[in-house]
Amino acid sequence: MLDYTPKEMNEREALVVNPAKTCQPIGAMYAALGIHRCLPHSHGSQGCCSYHRMHLTRHYRDPIMASTSSFTEGACVFGGKTNLAKGLENIFNIYNPDIVAVNSTCLSETIGDDIGEIIKDTLPKLPAGKVVIHANTPSYTGSHITGFSNMNKAMVTYLSEAKKESKNETINVLPGFVEPSDMKEIKRILGMMGLSYIMFPDTSGVVNAPMTGRYEMYPEGGTPIQKIVEAGDSALTIALGDFSSKEAAYELEKKCEVPSSVLELPIGVVNTDAFIMRVVEQTGVTVPKELEVERGQLIDLMVDIHNHYHGKKVALYGDPDTVIALTQFIVSLGMVPKYVLTGTPGKAFDKKVKEILLAAGIKDAKVGNALDLMTLHQWIKNDPVDLLIGNTYGKYIARAENIPLVRVGFPILDRVGHSFFPTVGYVGAIRLIEKISTALLDKYDRECPEEDFELVL
Ligand code: SF4
Repeated sequence: MLDYTPKEMNEREALVVNPAKTCQPIGAMYAALGIHRCLPHSHGSQGCCSYHRMHLTRHYRDPIMASTSSFTEGACVFGGKTNLAKGLENIFNIYNPDIVAVNSTCLSETIGDDIGEIIKDTLPKLPAGKVVIHANTPSYTGSHITGFSNMNKAMVTYLSEAKKESKNETINVLPGFVEPSDMKEIKRILGMMGLSYIMFPDTSGVVNAPMTGRYEMYPEGGTPIQKIVEAGDSALTIALGDFSSKEAAYELEKKCEVPSSVLELPIGVVNTDAFIMRVVEQTGVTVPKELEVERGQLIDLMVDIHNHYHGKKVALYGDPDTVIALTQFIVSLGMVPKYVLTGTPGKAFDKKVKEILLAAGIKDAKVGNALDLMTLHQWIKNDPVDLLIGNTYGKYIARAENIPLVRVGFPILDRVGHSFFPTVGYVGAIRLIEKISTALLDKYDRECPEEDFELVL
């Protein structure tokens, strides 16, 4: 389908072809689902909300619930205050969530609705004890990662409180825009270390809930509201991912004086080590034997099969925090990141990736933020790579150029497993190596000359 992508590259600042990002409310909605018994609410037209729900549903293969202010012509001209106020009353009366997390859309932002004020005016009319928070998520700036970050920050702004005079020993962990399986894995690691922690948001058990034969509008997972309130009394916040978690951590520091550490997503050995050692430094716990064994198994695998991937050229694309962490991992495997790209704007992305590449002695890689997949395809047409790592949208490039694709990130619309198997932690890195190695060897087995077709590789 992309056979006619031209090799020749022209300047096209005002035109995006095959974007490497999606819109802010999708990230906000995903974050909101990580609060227990939360119904995300989209303040805009039904079309936006349908798109956001559909995209999340296709990725997680679970029904994603959200309500909408259902703007029509009247709301577009006079503003959506009446729609939101009436909508909130209906939502609590009919669907009975504990909390509604409102995100704006391009339309309500352009009109200029003051959602905070509308919520204040409406709260007295809502059932007692119910909570409403909101995040501004105009989609003409940033990406779904910005929307996730904004909603994560809104949780702190609206909910977290420093109630005690001194801090307790709990650690807050902001996991970033990762899979529910990753959030579960981070909790497993913290649990193994015997720590008291609060993670928010936490979509594990919400968007990958089990089939029980009974429909649960609010599955068992998600961070309880009370825990997000108590996060204000914690000793430290570890924010995983500059782009998706940093703002919430800084807000918690400003509002409740909880110090923060911003780390990369714990993908691969280096970043998982950094996460675990930061926890050790803070709490003084010793690293459990079980975790050491997992690390040792990962290192063993990296050594055992390094000949499968060493020196292979890779194109990485997707969300900034994921791609930065993957770049570090790919370098540690001895592979060569040749193209590293995100659709989310932010110069910090280029800086971080270039630092990793420079430390590895890689000087000729192309790195960029706010770029699209057509740019990546053109780069590849001019100088090919051995492997693509990114979301489902790369499959068109993979097919056109006959390059294996390892699916990591958001969205993955044509494969399963991401909701259940992590990519973070040592165990996640083992899974990534398996996927990378399998993709490369499957291609080799398909295309190698008969005399090189071996049983043992
Ligand atoms: S109008 Fe804006 S918020 Fe709605 S789907 Fe499009 S980009 Fe997203």
